[in-house]
Amino acid sequence: ASAASLALTLTACGQNSEGGSEEDKSGSDGATVGIAMPTKSSERWITDGANVEKELKAKGFKTKLVFGEDDPDQQVSQIENMITQGVDALIVAAIDNKSLGNVMQQAADADIPVISYDRLILGTENVDYYASFDNEKVGELQGGYIVDKLGLKAGKKGPFNIELFAGSNDDNNTRYFFNGAMKVLKPYMDKGQLVVRSKQTDLNQVTTLRWDGGTAQKRMDDLLTSSYRSAKVDAVLSPYDGISIGILSALKSDGYGSGSKPMPVVTGQDAEIASVKSIIAGQQTQTVFKDLRQLAKVAANMVDAVLNDKKPEVNDTKSYDNGSKVVPAYLLQPVSVDKSNYEKVLVDGGYYTADQLN
Ligand code: BGC
Repeated sequence: ASAASLALTLTACGQNSEGGSEEDKSGSDGATVGIAMPTKSSERWITDGANVEKELKAKGFKTKLVFGEDDPDQQVSQIENMITQGVDALIVAAIDNKSLGNVMQQAADADIPVISYDRLILGTENVDYYASFDNEKVGELQGGYIVDKLGLKAGKKGPFNIELFAGSNDDNNTRYFFNGAMKVLKPYMDKGQLVVRSKQTDLNQVTTLRWDGGTAQKRMDDLLTSSYRSAKVDAVLSPYDGISIGILSALKSDGYGSGSKPMPVVTGQDAEIASVKSIIAGQQTQTVFKDLRQLAKVAANMVDAVLNDKKPEVNDTKSYDNGSKVVPAYLLQPVSVDKSNYEKVLVDGGYYTADQLN
């Protein structure tokens, strides 16, 4: 038997490979995994918390699940508490990707492996693995959807008016989403076929702190007032469903969606129920579905492997440099969803029941 499978067998017998004298940290045998999620204000993270717990429990782990209310300090103290309570591994979806350096050091000092969940923790060597989606691809799907839907890909010349929104500037994913989208949109902007009337095209001009829908609504209101009194918006790049809902409210208040002002193409991300309903109702146009069931499985498998002295399965060892090291990652594939395929992807795929979307 290999050393790894031997360790597994010994663990299964309630011993550990060191001879059983130490506290058993390996395997599912009584080990506890601390899970730190960023907020309950968005459906996706509640789902993530529940899915990760379910996967870990199925493997025999105990879990502690906390939510940080989008407050970085609160998240740091929650993780500190879990370290003090003696968790055996941590799964962390960061609020502020740069604020966790000290607490990650505490985890390392206590020999606690850390899986960075969905969002990469930056500026510390003490992150073992990264479980996420191909985040640049998410942006490519959003940008690609816009040029497709406007007919640019099929040869329409435009020009079309577009405004750009990005996520929170303290979330590492934000620039991946934005850069992915810009990769597709920028060539059309350079040719004048897509026009950003506000001229706000740099990432630092278009971010939305903590992904807040109200903040996005306010910015969209301001953009409509400053740049669209004599023109109409044809598309809005939105990185996340909660932001899309804010943008759509501003557009509706300005008369879009009725008469001579059709709703612009509005993208999104996460396939949250409210947004899928909005898509069905012809308001939001698209979202990017990320199968959180798969992500939870990946994260739970990583923990299981690490605690059993095995190498977790990864499929990317070059894309995610966190400033201190390249973190080995397992990246899942996102899927673009709109009115034409939501039933196939979300309902037939067993993610939502048809009733949930009524
Ligand atoms: C996640 C997205 C989510 C956003 C806001 C990002 O880090 O990858 O799925 O929409 O945070 O919660």
